[in-house]
Amino acid sequence: MKIVVVGGGFAGINFIKSIESDKRFEITLVDKNNYHFFPPLLYQVASAFIEPSNISYPFRRMFQKKDNLRFHMGSLIQVNVSENTIDTDTGTLSYDYLVLALGTETNYFGMESVKNDSLPMKTIDEALHLRNHILLNMEKVVRMQDTARRDGLLNIVVAGGGPTGVEFAGMLAELGGYIAAKEYPEIKDFRSHIYLVNSGPVLLGPMSKTAQQEAEKVLTKLGVNVILNAAVKDYLNGRVILSNGRTIETEALIWATGVIAREVPGLPSQVITRGRRIIVDAFNKVVDTANIFAIGDICYQTTDPHFPEGHPQLAQVAIQQGKLLAKNLSRAVSGQEQKSFHYNDKGSMAIISKYKAVADLPKFSFKGFFAWVLWLFIHIIPLIGFRNKMKLIFSWMWSFITNDPTLRLIFRPGSHQKKRDKDDF
Ligand SMILES: Cc1cc2nc3c(=O)[nH]c(=O)nc-3n(C[C@H](O)[C@H](O)[C@H](O)COP(=O)(O)OP(=O)(O)OC[C@H]3O[C@@H](n4cnc5c(N)ncnc54)[C@H](O)[C@@H]3O)c2cc1C
Repeated sequence: MKIVVVGGGFAGINFIKSIESDKRFEITLVDKNNYHFFPPLLYQVASAFIEPSNISYPFRRMFQKKDNLRFHMGSLIQVNVSENTIDTDTGTLSYDYLVLALGTETNYFGMESVKNDSLPMKTIDEALHLRNHILLNMEKVVRMQDTARRDGLLNIVVAGGGPTGVEFAGMLAELGGYIAAKEYPEIKDFRSHIYLVNSGPVLLGPMSKTAQQEAEKVLTKLGVNVILNAAVKDYLNGRVILSNGRTIETEALIWATGVIAREVPGLPSQVITRGRRIIVDAFNKVVDTANIFAIGDICYQTTDPHFPEGHPQLAQVAIQQGKLLAKNLSRAVSGQEQKSFHYNDKGSMAIISKYKAVADLPKFSFKGFFAWVLWLFIHIIPLIGFRNKMKLIFSWMWSFITNDPTLRLIFRPGSHQKKRDKDDF
């Protein structure tokens, strides 16, 4: 039986790892990239703290010596439900079972100017672009005579006070502060140019009060300008316009807020709901279809009694859904009963700065150094590849102890090369 999995993120890869031993299935993974990566650490790539290869792993390496696993590099164009096929930009594939695990993309809430000119951080490419952009702006600042433009180049506005925004602002303040002091003598006030803007009244909205207060306290102490109850309304001529009327001049608006599920053309319109998520039943089968499943961020499941409004779009939900669907498909083919999905919430964490993190565990919350150590540990475990784990531990030790990672390199693919890659593909 042929299973086609579209998307090799947390959900897709955990599904494949859990079903590969069942040799009744031939599994093809379709992904637009040739590697799996770990989004929770993207902000560390964007802030030049770790290398992209620390958090990514090639699919073909993962599939070595697995006879029933294949990789197809391509982007989904559409599902042909009645024909049991999918079209990708690199060919058509047929399936007996289709598993959709494409995750989400950045949501700009209809603001075209923000979409065109802000810097998102959802992929490795975007994180590297962001890193280059900030480093280039710093190079421009040191040559800048025009003091009026200097502020715009130095100011970094991070939109979104969730874990990604908080972690990125904290990392910029810590690292940027140390590095700027040592390497850019012309920039004396790096930290005071970092703004963290959040539409809600607190940072880390879904977390505990302890976590929210700690995040605001630590960031403010580091010199970050925390602006609450203000949403970004527009980004025009190098100025961010906030809902409270304030404007901030900046050439770096970092968009760390808002996601929307990736589009899957070809599915019946009644299965798509808010946030463009795909409605699934308790076994992750897409409603009104016979053999199509959706797992992870892209699906919307209201059958779990503790999550009647759907699950949060988090890595653990995606991992657990991927694993259960694998077991259920094996059971279904053996004529056994399937198990419905119940999310086991193991808690949430965020790192705020060096040696400071917050952790909300199911029974209690805590903060500080031990939360930071736990955060490091938790983020090592799910990384794919022993070498990646070791490389990351080394990078962290080096960078945290010395405050001096050596990744502040501006690599830019030539425009002719970018065009050739596109044409060849
Ligand atoms: C910056 C950032 C920080 C985060 N931090 C945390 C955190 O600390 N804790 C936490 O629990 N969660 C965090 N999340 C959320 C977490 O990453 C997601 O919940 C999780 O990745 C969802 O897994 P998924 O498999 O559904 O989707 P993804 O992991 O997004 O995987 C989707 C896959 O589909 C592929 N794909 C996309 N479009 C196509 C296409 N058209 N054709 C083919 N392939 C395609 C992509 O290349 C990717 O491999 C973070 C997310 C981001 C972006």
